[in-house]
Amino acid sequence: MKASFRLGRVMGIEIGIHVSWLIIFALLTWSLAAAYYPQLYPGWGSLTYWTLGVLSSLLLFASVLAHELGHSWVAIRRGIPVKSITLFIFGGAANITKEAETPSSELFMAVSGPAVSFALALIFWLVYFLTQGTSEVIGAMALYLAQINAILGAFNLVPGFPLDGGRVLRAVLWGMTKNFRQATRIASVTGQGFAYFLIFGGIATAFIVGWLGGLWLAFIGWFLATAAKASYRQMVVSEILRGASVREIMSSDFKSIEPNVSLQQALDDYMMPFSQRALSVSQWGRLLGLITLTDIKKTPRQLWSSTPVSEVMTRTDELKTVSRDDDLNTVLQYLQSQDLNQLPVMQAGELVGMVTRSDLIRYLQLRQEIDVRATAKGADKQD
Ligand SMILES: [Zn+2]
Repeated sequence: MKASFRLGRVMGIEIGIHVSWLIIFALLTWSLAAAYYPQLYPGWGSLTYWTLGVLSSLLLFASVLAHELGHSWVAIRRGIPVKSITLFIFGGAANITKEAETPSSELFMAVSGPAVSFALALIFWLVYFLTQGTSEVIGAMALYLAQINAILGAFNLVPGFPLDGGRVLRAVLWGMTKNFRQATRIASVTGQGFAYFLIFGGIATAFIVGWLGGLWLAFIGWFLATAAKASYRQMVVSEILRGASVREIMSSDFKSIEPNVSLQQALDDYMMPFSQRALSVSQWGRLLGLITLTDIKKTPRQLWSSTPVSEVMTRTDELKTVSRDDDLNTVLQYLQSQDLNQLPVMQAGELVGMVTRSDLIRYLQLRQEIDVRATAKGADKQD
């Protein structure tokens, strides 16, 4: 997620805030200070209401972060690295680098977030209870935070993927059937069902009962429906790519050129006729770098015939490369995170091939077609 800024590090995990969160923060503070607290506790000064509004929003933010850290802590303990946590519009997302390997890891990772929320609800409720009779202001805020954390925990336990409850459902089904893909499919269909229930239910209550909060529910539902579909598709792709290695799709008939060849020549004599987006640049058998269509396009067109490729190529030491035995998930990750179109395949310091975005897409399409046929024949019974 690019539209976010960094806040710092906790347990080695980078914490960031998505810009949308700032809007929510402002809206929440305003609605707490101008409506929620004044309605429930009339007669306090406006400074008190606004202080409460800001503090409650900040503590809610900290609560959401604690929920995500709960997930991350279990993930790390189970040997799954967590890169970052981004807090955005409806809470947070921990960037857990890979899927859990066993149903029990999945289960514990999923449950830990809501567990933290419920624990916080209990703590805030205790604060509320203990400040009864001493400070009404602190009590008011503690009660609000107890309620919101309880709601946060409960909402996340709804059994629809990608919510935590959906992950719990998936872990249980996965453990029972030993079929990860089928478990994800069921959990994500349940998630979509719940999402559509929120959308239609929300719109209906907004129009029939006239409760505008219904539109919020519909919005959350729409968000969930999109997330459920996307995470299912992502799972299918990563399942397909998991078992395959670079050597299956790489091409070894890439063209190589000398460093003093001009950009125009590289285009006319090598890229266009052989429809290659990238060429390796080497001299006396030594690889110097890679020149791609994207590199060429960055140079003004009138300079193409006077600029040698060595000037705009990406040098070997700056190149992101893969090896023949890397799995295709790694390739996908590199291509996506660095926004690349191809990766050179290196073996013992030598360039042995090239793997491109279109190779990867072609492979995915082919495999999906084969898998659909296999499933239709009932051959996919045991994962
Ligand atoms: Zn969670």
